Amino acid sequence: VNFGQARPIPEEYSVSCVRVTYFPYADSQQLMVGFGLAIAVAVVAWAFRALTIGGAAAASVVGGTVFGLGGPEWASVLIAFFASSSALSRWTTGTKHDATTGFAKGSRRDATQVIANGAVGATLAAVHAATLAPWAFVGFVGAMAAVTADTWATEVGLLSRVPPRLITTGAPVRPGTSGAVSSLGSAAAVAGAVFISTVAFIAAAVAAFQVWGVPDLSGATLLVIGPVAGLAGAVTDSWLGATVQAVYRCPRCEKETERRVHSCGTASRLARGREWLTNDLVNLAASVVGAVVAIIIGRALFL
Ligand SMILES: [Zn+2]
Repeated sequence: VNFGQARPIPEEYSVSCVRVTYFPYADSQQLMVGFGLAIAVAVVAWAFRALTIGGAAAASVVGGTVFGLGGPEWASVLIAFFASSSALSRWTTGTKHDATTGFAKGSRRDATQVIANGAVGATLAAVHAATLAPWAFVGFVGAMAAVTADTWATEVGLLSRVPPRLITTGAPVRPGTSGAVSSLGSAAAVAGAVFISTVAFIAAAVAAFQVWGVPDLSGATLLVIGPVAGLAGAVTDSWLGATVQAVYRCPRCEKETERRVHSCGTASRLARGREWLTNDLVNLAASVVGAVVAIIIGRALFL
């Protein structure tokens, strides 16, 4: 099994004194192409109002790191997450009711959101370029499955006609409440995690075939690891959202919100949770859980 290390390691990498510094397995050409591609994607996403200007800058760094240090398999997975999530928010923006006004931010992703969703993936791409550790790609798929599951669940769950329930107590709550889950949202979480895992499996198989010229389907384990890790991350996200995440309450509208200033313009008050534990930090924690769960299962199975 050789996830993410399908490319042969050129001999000169081990003797070059420049490259043997931090990322001995990085490829300077791939780095340039990777950053160029990431900047192009970020500019297009900014033009289509999927990213703020800060979000586009962060996406260039995160995307460039993943594309440039990881390579095509890594890039495919990140693009699958980003394209599907942006398309889903665009599709649901017109459909969903005023529930979104409770969320911390609009559908345009800013720098903090991009970093919260992509930092773990970018770190694992760097670990892979530095060590060729085979578990790095597995962890990356777990982290991406977690953020995809969470994003799909959030976007699609808002369309649920049945009121969601709090994951901790099961009490029915308003759509858009932090920690609320619905069967529609949960189905979307599973679909998102399966989607990312499938893309990862196909990308790894294609990359392996390009190198050895024989079909290698050993990456099929990703089809099990990815969904399990992704769901573990999504459950973590909802659980933290229901328990310790900062949730504010607008004194004027009597509505819960993730914003310090409600959409009506009134300053909200902390209703529950820790003030410093924002939705972005919860997303970051969920992606860490996704990565760790994937690596643990991967090591138990084969790594
Ligand atoms: Zn209000």
